[in-house]
Order: sequence, then C-alpha cells, then structure tokens
Amino acid sequence: MKKRVQRNKKRIRWASVLTVFVLLIGIIAIAFAAVHLLSPKVNTSQKSSQTSRQEKTKSTVPSSSSQPKETKWLTGTNENQLPILMFHYVTSRADQLPQDSNNINIVTFENELKALKSQGYTIVSGTDAQKILTTKEKPSDKMVWLTFDDGSVTMYTDIFPLLKKYNMHATNFIITGFVNKAQGGILSWEQIKEMKASGLVDFGSHTVSHPDLGTQTLEAQRTELEQSKADLDKNLNQQTNMICYPAGGYNQNTLSLSTELGYKFGLLDPGRNGAVAQAAKESDGLLTLPRFRMMSSTTAEEMMQMIQPATDYNEKNK
Ligand SMILES: [Zn+2]
Repeated sequence: MKKRVQRNKKRIRWASVLTVFVLLIGIIAIAFAAVHLLSPKVNTSQKSSQTSRQEKTKSTVPSSSSQPKETKWLTGTNENQLPILMFHYVTSRADQLPQDSNNINIVTFENELKALKSQGYTIVSGTDAQKILTTKEKPSDKMVWLTFDDGSVTMYTDIFPLLKKYNMHATNFIITGFVNKAQGGILSWEQIKEMKASGLVDFGSHTVSHPDLGTQTLEAQRTELEQSKADLDKNLNQQTNMICYPAGGYNQNTLSLSTELGYKFGLLDPGRNGAVAQAAKESDGLLTLPRFRMMSSTTAEEMMQMIQPATDYNEKNK
C-alpha cells in the first residue's frame, strides 16, 4: 500500500514535469509562429514603400529627360535675332579631307559645343529657327542655329555622334547631284535618312551641282533649285523650304525663282556677295539670311563673342 502511494506520487511528479515541458514547447511554438506571421507584414510594408519610392523616381526621370520639348517659349516685343553658324567639315582625320580653312578639327568643334552647352544655349532645329525668324516667340534668349554646307560624310561619321552625345540639333545643306554618285567624302541617302529619322538633323538644298547661282542663266538656276528640291522632297518625304546658295552667290532671279518654287528661307555666306557676318532677323529678308563663318582657326571663345550681341539684344527684348 505504501509502495503504491509512493509510485503514484512519482507518476504525478513526472506528469507535472511533462506538462510544464509541453507548455514550454507550446509557448516557444506560439512565439515562433507569432514572429513569422508578423514579419511578412513588416516586409510587405517595406516593399510597398520601396515600390512607391521607385515609382516616384520613375515619374521624375521622363519629365527631366523630355524637358527640352516641354520648355515654354518666351514672347518678345520685337523681332528675334538668331545667330546662324556656318560649318562645312569636322574630322579627326584631316588628311582625308581638303586642307582648307573650312576643315575643322573635331577637338575644336567639340569645345565649341561644350561652350554653348555650359553657357546654357538652346541649339535650335531648322523648324525652330523658322518659327524664331517669323514670330516674336523664342525658346530662350540664348539660342543658336548650327548649319553645315555641302553634305560632307563627316556629318555622319564625326558630327552626328557629337550631336547625339550633347542632344543638339543641326541643319545640313545637301548638293543632291553628288549624293550616291561615288564622289569622295559625300553622304549617301541612307546616311541622310538615318540622321533625319533621329530628329537631330534636318536637311535643306544646296543645289544639284554647287554652281554660283549669281552667274547662271535663269533656266540653269531654275533647274538647280527645282531639281534639288524634288530630290530632297522625294527621298526624305518632306516639303523642302530652305536653300543655301553655293558660295553665297545669288541675284534677283535667284530670289524670285526660290519664292516661286516654294523656298521660304535662303542662307548667305558671310563675306561673299556683300553678306555681312551678323545674327539673322526677319527684317533682313527671309531669303537673304546672314551667317557667321566657322573656320579651322575659330576658337570657342571667338564663337561666343560672335553670338553675344544677339544674346544681349534678345535678353532686352521682353
Ligand atoms: Zn557649299
């Protein structure tokens, strides 16, 4: 009897130890489960805050990258003044191109682009230039139009990569009879079309065979102006309305024929045919727009000095 009581007491002790043990395991299990059930909620909230942060970043990126298009144009009281720079060739391989003052080293050219960018200039497209020259609206007081004559292949190999690098526009004037005719150093229609599709380069006429129009008969002039426009219109699916007179040569017949054939904007050569190097404005006549000649010896500082008077004028023209 005594032994049975003792055995029972032992069983009860063991049972209570077991119960405490089971309870402890239960508490640990609940605590473990609680931590794991709660923690995903914490993660989710962290994730959602991360996502909203990413979305915020995403939404700011496009607006900053599309800023140039959204730039609000200003309106002045008087006509605008637009400095038009006249370039020809730009290359790092000077030996492959004519050794003349129009052949600009690529380092010099990039320094000029950097100077314009660092001083906050807007590099306008041909379309923007036309609006600036025919209205009182302007994208900025600091603006410049880069133009390139002759359709040199360096437009594609050297200049176009830099335009892409700095997101800048340019206008190229093409001698349409030289394109795809195996003349050394001239662009192909394929290259011209690729540059046009980029939206960074637009194209105007520089005639079919680059004669001095001022010395040509009326009919010869008509052929040069009419055929080059037809070539550009057909190949680029556009209505070409810009003509750059080869060597700045023109006479009264050139101007009336240009108007008759659908050209609205004509560009001169500074120093040729009485043209003065100065910023262009509507009152000069849209078919006789002056430009500044950029040569191999022109420095970025000299270029900035050329365009400064127009900027000073535009800043006062509110
Ligand atoms: Zn030319």
